[in-house]
Amino acid sequence: MELESVKKSFMDRLSQIRGLEYAGNIVYWDLATGAGSRGIDARSRAFGVLSSQTQMMMMSEAFLSELEILELNINNLQAQDAMVVKEARYQLDRISKIPMNEYREYIELTSKATVAWEEAKSEADFEMFAPYLKEIIEYKRKFADYFGYDDHPYNAHLEDFERGMTVKVLDEFFEELKATIVPIVKAINEKNEQPMDDFLYLSYPIENQKAVSEKILYTIGFDKEAGALSESEHPFTLALDISDVRLTTHYYQNHLTSSLFSTIHEGGHGIYEQNFSDSIAGTILADGSSAGIHESQSRLYENNLGRSEAFWSYFYPELQSKFKKQLDCVKLSMFVEAINKSEPSLIRVEADELTYSLHIMVRYELEKALMDGQLEVKDLQSAWNDKMQSYLGIMPKNDAEGILQDVHWSDGLFGYFPSYALGNAYAAQIEIALRESMDVDGYLRAGDYAPIKGWLSKNVHQYGLTKTADEIIRIATGKPFNAKYYTEYLKEKFTKLYNL
Ligand code: ZN
Repeated sequence: MELESVKKSFMDRLSQIRGLEYAGNIVYWDLATGAGSRGIDARSRAFGVLSSQTQMMMMSEAFLSELEILELNINNLQAQDAMVVKEARYQLDRISKIPMNEYREYIELTSKATVAWEEAKSEADFEMFAPYLKEIIEYKRKFADYFGYDDHPYNAHLEDFERGMTVKVLDEFFEELKATIVPIVKAINEKNEQPMDDFLYLSYPIENQKAVSEKILYTIGFDKEAGALSESEHPFTLALDISDVRLTTHYYQNHLTSSLFSTIHEGGHGIYEQNFSDSIAGTILADGSSAGIHESQSRLYENNLGRSEAFWSYFYPELQSKFKKQLDCVKLSMFVEAINKSEPSLIRVEADELTYSLHIMVRYELEKALMDGQLEVKDLQSAWNDKMQSYLGIMPKNDAEGILQDVHWSDGLFGYFPSYALGNAYAAQIEIALRESMDVDGYLRAGDYAPIKGWLSKNVHQYGLTKTADEIIRIATGKPFNAKYYTEYLKEKFTKLYNL
C-alpha cells in the first residue's frame, strides 16, 4: 500500500477512536452533572463499553501494522504527522504493557474500592478502606515493574501525569517548598492577627452567585459558544474538543467564594483547552502538555490573577451590587484581604494558597514510601497524622478529615498529586514573564483580558501536547523551570499581607 493511503487509513482510525472517546465523555458528563439517578447503572455500562472499544481499536492488528509502516517511514512524513505517530506509539506502549486480564481485575478492584472508600469516609473509619488500598498498592507496584523505571518505582507512575518527572527532581522541589513555606506558616500563626472574613459566610442567594460566576468566566476569556458551565459535587473540566469544553462549579449558599474561585480555576483549564492551535485540533495532540502545565493555567487565573486587588477592582462593584445587604459595608481592600487569608486547615481542596502545597507534600511523601515499600498500609494513618502535625501544625480528629478525604487513591491515581504543586510553581514563573511583557494590572483593572489570553495562547496554550512541560516553561519564560520563583512569590506576598 502507498504510504499516503496507509497514513490516511491510520488517521481515520485515530479519529474514530476520538469519536468514541467523545461519546464516552458525553456519557461521563451526564453521570457527573446529575441526569436522573435511576440511569446511573446504564450510563456506567455504556461508558465501560465505549472505553473498552477505544482500547480494542488501539490494540488491533490493523492499527498496529499501519503504525509500524508509518514508523519505518517516519522521515517521509510531515512534522506534525510524525508527532502524531510518535504519540500514538507512546500511548499504545503504555496501555499494552499491562496484561489485559490483570488490568481488568484492577479496574474492577478500583470500582469496588471507590464504593468502599465512600462508605469508609462517611463512617470516618480507615480500617474499612485499608484492605482495598493494600491490594491497589500491590497492583501499582507490579505495574511499575511492567512499565519499567530507573531508580524508583514511583517514577513509573509519575510518567502518566508529568512525562520525564522523577523522584529525584521532586525531592529537591518539595524540600525547597518545605524550607520556605513552613516558617511562614509558623510566623503567621505566632503573629495571631487574621483579617476579618466572616462576611464571606453569610447567606448568598445562589441565583446571584451564578450570575457573577458567569460574568467572570466570560470576561476572563472563556468562550461561551465553545463550552458550557454546569454544576457538580466536585468541580471539574471536561474537554471534548476545542469547540466544546465543559466546566462545572459548585454553589454553596453560605460560602460565597467557593463557587467563584472554582469557576475561575476551571475557567483557566477551559481557556487552555479552547486555545490549542487549529492545526492540532481534533488530533491526538490536542491535549495539555502535562497535568502540571494544565494546573498552572487554572492556578494562574485563580490565584496569581484572581486573588489580586487589580482583578477585583474590576469585578467587586458587580459583586457588591448583586449582594448589597451582605457586602455594602465591606470595602474592596477588606474583601481582598479576606480572600487571601492563610490558616492551616485539614482539607486540601479548601486550603489557602500558602498552605496548599504542604497538603500535596504530605501525599507525595506517603505515596513514594508506599510505592518503594518503606511504608505499609497498616502504618499509613499514623504517618499521615504525624506529617500533618509537623508541616501544618494541626491533626485531624478523624479519618474523614484526614487520610480518607481524597478520592484519588481509591481510583488508583498514584503520582497525580505532585502535579498540583508543580502547577502552582509553573504559574509563578509564567506570571513573571507575563508581567514583563505587559501591564497586567492595568488590563485587569479595565477588565480587558484579550492581551493576557493572547499572550498565554501564544506561549503556552497553542502547543498542546507538541511540547513537554519543560519546553513550555522555556518558551514562555526564556528560562528552565526553577522553584525559586514560586517560593519567592509566596514569601513576598504573605510577608506583605501579614506584615511579617
Ligand atoms: Zn485544576
